[in-house]
Amino acid sequence: GEFLARAKQYNGELNAYITLDEQKTLSEAHDADVRRADGTAGPLTGIPVAHKDIFCQEGWLTTCGSKMLGNFVSPYSAHVIEQCRAAGLVTLGRTNMDEFAMGSSNENSAFGPVKNPWDKNAVPGGSSGGSAVAVAARLAPIATGTDTGGSIRQPAAFCGVTGIKPTYGVVSRFGMIAYASSLDQGGPFAKSAEDCALLLNVMAGFDERDATSLQREREDYSRDLERPLAGLRIGLPREYFADGLAGDVAAAIDAAIAEYKKLGAQIVEVSLPNTRLAIPSYYVIAPAEASSNLSRFDGVRYGHRAADFDGLVGMYEQTRAEGFGWEVKRRILTGTYVLSHGYYDAYYLQAQKIRRIIANDFQAAFRDCDLIAGPVAPTTAWNLGEKSDDPVAMYLADIYTLGVNLAGLPGMSVPAGFGADGRPVGLQLIGNYFDEARLLNAAHRFQ
Ligand code: GLN
Repeated sequence: GEFLARAKQYNGELNAYITLDEQKTLSEAHDADVRRADGTAGPLTGIPVAHKDIFCQEGWLTTCGSKMLGNFVSPYSAHVIEQCRAAGLVTLGRTNMDEFAMGSSNENSAFGPVKNPWDKNAVPGGSSGGSAVAVAARLAPIATGTDTGGSIRQPAAFCGVTGIKPTYGVVSRFGMIAYASSLDQGGPFAKSAEDCALLLNVMAGFDERDATSLQREREDYSRDLERPLAGLRIGLPREYFADGLAGDVAAAIDAAIAEYKKLGAQIVEVSLPNTRLAIPSYYVIAPAEASSNLSRFDGVRYGHRAADFDGLVGMYEQTRAEGFGWEVKRRILTGTYVLSHGYYDAYYLQAQKIRRIIANDFQAAFRDCDLIAGPVAPTTAWNLGEKSDDPVAMYLADIYTLGVNLAGLPGMSVPAGFGADGRPVGLQLIGNYFDEARLLNAAHRFQ
């Protein structure tokens, strides 16, 4: 009740939610009360959660931040949503995001930008900006998000909350509207690593409807939270502390590293020599996959359809011209280009080779350390409008997050103080495959 009241009160100024539906929320809360009464409640039954508007949810408007799906009420629920409902979590609302999860500032939403509660002139980060802001402003205690190239970690960093992107395949992509399928991964936002672990316990799990879902035994991600850090080897990649990292962010990260030393961790230097290449590789592969995934939005089966058109092809053209925003169009064009005959070898294939090299670099680094630490982003949150006309500047700010997705590794963002402008800084922790519990442990001991 308290969170719903705050969401209603502050959403006007923050725009964190695209949809709030009090009746639906109250009816889910009622279900939770019934379960408590009849003894079928679990430990999280009745806890409210905000869902990124990318997860299809039966009976709820599911827009993915796009005019294209501005009228789409999903007839089914994503696996993540099914599991949240089964645990008795109560949906507070559907959070704002960059259109089809393409962006780093939430300014690409068809439903207007989200404001950073620390400073309303600052962007909240993206693409899961609404979820990060909902948690930061206490409009929700926990929230779901997705991370294709940083969309959980970077808004968590910009808003001073905790978020984790699990190993690729841990959270099912069924019902999660696809951006770049080989990179997309769902994960939780919360104030603390402890709460992230509890929500990840609910979100994770094998699902045969996602061909890349991993068939592993269920694990309790909170099992190692209290483990002492003595002897933990933390690797600092030289390339993450080089030119381009703002001095105030570097200072905040250094202070966090000093804290880890006090906690008994051993700090070692490692190298991720191809870090620079993550940007061109990602910005070829992600648009390539997006151009294919977004071909389903044709105005025939669901979503927006142009009112005036000439013939079938004209209907497709007019529908897509009206339904997609500029950044989405840019990605579709880029993706179509890099996949086209004569350019495929030069761009797409090269990008895939770089992807493999980057994954190998991480494995080499993990021979010398247990976790990798560094910044999430080169600066604190920038001002609204500052980079919105300069897509390349926006892409470059993703330098520290993209490698994790290209390699399929788990990564998280942990609040680590503030920059010179008073805006939050996020410490990024990267683990080897399936090391989520160790990441959450390291984050928890630090918090
Ligand atoms: N900023 C990156 C992009 O625009 C990552 C977005 C994401 O992780 N969904 O593609």
